[in-house]
Amino acid sequence: MPSVRRADVSDAEWFSWRWQLAHMMTSAEELARIVELSPTERAGLAASAHLFRVGITPYYASLMDPRHASCPIRMQAIPAPAEGDVRDEELRDPLGEDSHNPAPSVVHKYPDRVLFLVVDRCGIYCRHCNRRRLVGGDEPPTTADLDAGIDYIARTPRIRDVLLSGGDPLLLSTRRLDHLLGRLRAIPHVETLRIGTRLPVVCPMRIDDELTSALRKHHPLFINTHFNHPVELTPEARRACERLADAGIPVGNQTVLLRGVNSSVRCLRALMRGLLRSRVRPYYLFQGDTVVGTDHLRTPVETAMELYEGLRGWINGMAVPHLVLDAPGGGGKVPILPSYLESLDADTAVVRTYRGVRIAYPQPRARDCTVPYDDIYFAGVAPDDDREGTVG
Ligand SMILES: *Cc1c(COP(=O)(O)O)cnc(C)c1O
Ligand code: SF4
Repeated sequence: MPSVRRADVSDAEWFSWRWQLAHMMTSAEELARIVELSPTERAGLAASAHLFRVGITPYYASLMDPRHASCPIRMQAIPAPAEGDVRDEELRDPLGEDSHNPAPSVVHKYPDRVLFLVVDRCGIYCRHCNRRRLVGGDEPPTTADLDAGIDYIARTPRIRDVLLSGGDPLLLSTRRLDHLLGRLRAIPHVETLRIGTRLPVVCPMRIDDELTSALRKHHPLFINTHFNHPVELTPEARRACERLADAGIPVGNQTVLLRGVNSSVRCLRALMRGLLRSRVRPYYLFQGDTVVGTDHLRTPVETAMELYEGLRGWINGMAVPHLVLDAPGGGGKVPILPSYLESLDADTAVVRTYRGVRIAYPQPRARDCTVPYDDIYFAGVAPDDDREGTVG
């Protein structure tokens, strides 16, 4: 379904990303004009001043089902009063990012790659956001913070990949983004650049020709976006993804499992297939993080694994993302693969197929897997520096 442009807005305004972002909807009064707010949604919106900021582009709001509060767009964008019901186990900084922070705006956790948090605003404030402590527009990174981040990356040669995140990096002006990417690209040891953005989902107008011409100068550049439900795959959103792909940018997707929003096999299959058809490669399927006020949106881990089993084997393998849990405290992403290995010894591995059939796989006779040519091919090359990024 295409988005429904509001009757009081001109085409020029509706298709302008700056207009969309300047007119983000934040209040019950504005939302009540387009949907029949439920008592629970009204209570959530009334309490939201003490929770996490509310903000929805008119485009994304136009995808809301006006009659049903169970609408996946509404559930992602409109707060529930349950957000105020914080459990002891829930964390402000569930992934321990603030303790892996060698420079302002840089999170260095894994050996060879960093997150670079370049902006603190978004085109939507997702109710499940795991970075709600930082995102909201109160303390934007300063030019000095960004300079210090680039300086850290430049003097840390084991960083091979920089992932721009935030907030949403595509909220920067194209000129500033281009400049930032250019400075990172100029660092010889930085091999790949990545951008994490939700704008193709919530403000597809942002993906215009000016942007793609700027981005394509910085290859190899990858974009990961964040679709959570097939209803988000509108013609506009799909076109935005295709434009990026046409600019030579491989587009991946990270989905967060959300209870009652996308926690069914049917929904996930439709989403993953729809993404692939839009030339977007599903990358991660996240078990929800233990961030404050999101208990009601998390699925049990057993459910996550069952959902994964409903994908692997049943749909195109390229549409099957990795199911991961980001370990609380900062351990990093851990795959939570259901066990397809029933037993394993030196002679035989017994596997379970996606249809539940047990099949024996005979092991090879030889056990030594050394690669003799390594010593020749890698002669004189220093081994990887595999230390943890910043030990908190
Ligand atoms: C997710 C994440 C990355 C990127 O991880 P990949 O598995 O390489 O996609 C890098 N740094 C931090 C801190 C992360 O949380
Ligand atoms: S777009 Fe990403 S960073 Fe922004 S609120 Fe949503 S989940 Fe958080």
